[in-house]
Amino acid sequence: MKSKVYFVAVNDGNDAAAVNKQLNKLLAESRVLDFIRKEDKVGVKVHFGEEGNTGFVRPHDLRVICDGIRSKGASALLSDANTLYRGRRLNSKEHLALAYEHGFTKEAVGIDIFIPDDNKKEDVIDISVGGKLIKTAQIARFFIDIDALVTVSHFKGHILTGFGGALKNIGMGCATREGKLAQHCDVAPVVYADKCTGCGECAIICPAGAIQIKNKKSVLVRKKCIGCASCIAVCPSMAMFIDIESGDDVQQKIAEYSLAVLKSKKGKVVFINFAVRINQECDCWGMENPRIAPDVGIFASSDPVSIDKASFDLVNEACGKNIFKEAHPKQDGLNLLKYAQDLGLGSLDYDLIKL
Ligand code: SF4
Ligand code: SF4
Repeated sequence: MKSKVYFVAVNDGNDAAAVNKQLNKLLAESRVLDFIRKEDKVGVKVHFGEEGNTGFVRPHDLRVICDGIRSKGASALLSDANTLYRGRRLNSKEHLALAYEHGFTKEAVGIDIFIPDDNKKEDVIDISVGGKLIKTAQIARFFIDIDALVTVSHFKGHILTGFGGALKNIGMGCATREGKLAQHCDVAPVVYADKCTGCGECAIICPAGAIQIKNKKSVLVRKKCIGCASCIAVCPSMAMFIDIESGDDVQQKIAEYSLAVLKSKKGKVVFINFAVRINQECDCWGMENPRIAPDVGIFASSDPVSIDKASFDLVNEACGKNIFKEAHPKQDGLNLLKYAQDLGLGSLDYDLIKL
């Protein structure tokens, strides 16, 4: 069965006011927030952007969405879980500080931020999935305990999944650090020796002692690697990449983690994708991150599979080619969507409603 995906166009060069106007139109005419009840506690799942990243959804856009939630009389918190790799979002205190630095203050967005702390037992919950690859998912409890979920995602390229949108934001984004490791654990990076300068930053940051510098090149012992991706994030030469042969397993794990989060949220979730500032890599990327597509617009749907497929289709249509395949030739992010559809998370078929 087809799901509805609502869409408003945004063009390169539209200023903040013009984007806000389109977003207001999307929310008003699609009525996608109408499921929210006065007594609901709503979680707004976002990505605050790694230090140095500029692709993330802006606070002034979040303001429109948060005002829409508050207009229903509900209470809400902005939230994201901590990261696996060693950036500024590794722990709750630094993560919160970075969110403020990126402008996500209460004055700007109208609601407070809550960053669950993996070190507190009360902030973590195990959810039984019984999936092919994930039996039990470790999720930040906040995303399970809340009554309703508004998932705001930046649609862009991704090293592991070709592209990232709503499902990536939920499956990987709501997992605890332990849960993120479970999704990455088959994935050891590879070193591109021609790009490696032997600076040693990766060996210093590696928590598993899996890297040595030999003959001025980084050498990785795969059996020691715990897949935390810290070396990828820290390498100034982009000489570290994910071993993409194991990417399909990661995509299926992300889908099974998405199921863990969403199975208790039937009828109480909406997804909003921003296909603007479309970069080659995700918002965890704090380094040079080229834009690969023009701005396309903003999507809203209750179906995470449909909204990601519609975002993928319209970005590629604007580029005249599969830009994500070009950016990440060995990844096929549609495998994530197909498996999510198999799990009953949504439909690849959609009706696009242009507003
Ligand atoms: S080699 Fe493995 S364990 Fe070490 S930093 Fe890289 S991903 Fe993490
Ligand atoms: S951080 Fe990058 S450039 Fe430096 S030694 Fe490691 S792989 Fe090579």
